[in-house]
Amino acid sequence: MSLELFVNQMVEMESLVPRELKGKKVAQPTFTREVVTVVGLKTTAARFLPVSHEGHSNETYVDKVDVLGKQRAEFIARKLKGIERRAHMALFRELAARTNGSDEWKSFFEGHFGTPCIIPDGLCIACWNCGLFGGLDAAGQRATFSRARYFDTYSIEETLECVSMLESEEGMGIGNQVYEDMVADKEGKPRGRGAETYHLYEYVKAGTHFPFITLIESPTLLDVVGYLHAVRRADAHGYGKYSANHGKFDTQFLAVATGYPRFSVLNMLEWAEAGDLEAKFANGEVQFDALGEAVMLTGDEIDALADKLQGAFDEYVAALG
Ligand SMILES: [Zn+2]
Repeated sequence: MSLELFVNQMVEMESLVPRELKGKKVAQPTFTREVVTVVGLKTTAARFLPVSHEGHSNETYVDKVDVLGKQRAEFIARKLKGIERRAHMALFRELAARTNGSDEWKSFFEGHFGTPCIIPDGLCIACWNCGLFGGLDAAGQRATFSRARYFDTYSIEETLECVSMLESEEGMGIGNQVYEDMVADKEGKPRGRGAETYHLYEYVKAGTHFPFITLIESPTLLDVVGYLHAVRRADAHGYGKYSANHGKFDTQFLAVATGYPRFSVLNMLEWAEAGDLEAKFANGEVQFDALGEAVMLTGDEIDALADKLQGAFDEYVAALG
């Protein structure tokens, strides 16, 4: 019942159909003032390096910040968005290839948007991904706004407990950049740094929790369902530096609701410390402000929503014509 009410509040799929602007296709600037909030808890399943800047020489440090009376590991919104955007694109290419009845997605993009879409420097600014995450075209002439809003988040645990660093029992991790961060030179040969390629790094330990909130403005069903699947995919691929080996997460979605949340990531940190984060959502003790009646999905209802991916994609393809 809630699921039906939720789906009824989604924006029409036609809003994802790009318009023509000077002979080019551009995602529509649709602003309905409707919003969907996705709330959850990410738990590291492997070593995680949430690094937003390069450290000195051959040492890398985890971003740390003092929040609510403790030092915590910081996971910035920009990184979270970047990884989830790529996962979202990978998912979309597979769906497009399936629609083509082949392993090939480029002709789908060229047919519907006039160009393939490559993150970050060859954005088409017309497709499902650009319409949700925003972007600037390669010529720098046309842009779309992002309808996905992310927030910085912080570990529930204190860094002394959750970060492996010089002072901690485990000490820093030891890596080899030739294998973990190899860059090809102009001839395509791997460019390493010889014998001094070993480096030390701090990392967030497995089992560390990060609460998160993501807003999707003017949401279609495909935006919301595609986002849920993109998060799962990003979890398996990895967030953070050296993501091929590190940064795997398990995400628990606590709520998917219409409306803006009347709470923040900081409130969620406090609830987690009080031991009642999950109960707040399961018992419906949190509130959202929607234009109409706010509808909150939890547990199995979120799984049932996620099951609508293929149907929503088919509807999108039909709308594209
Ligand atoms: Zn695109």
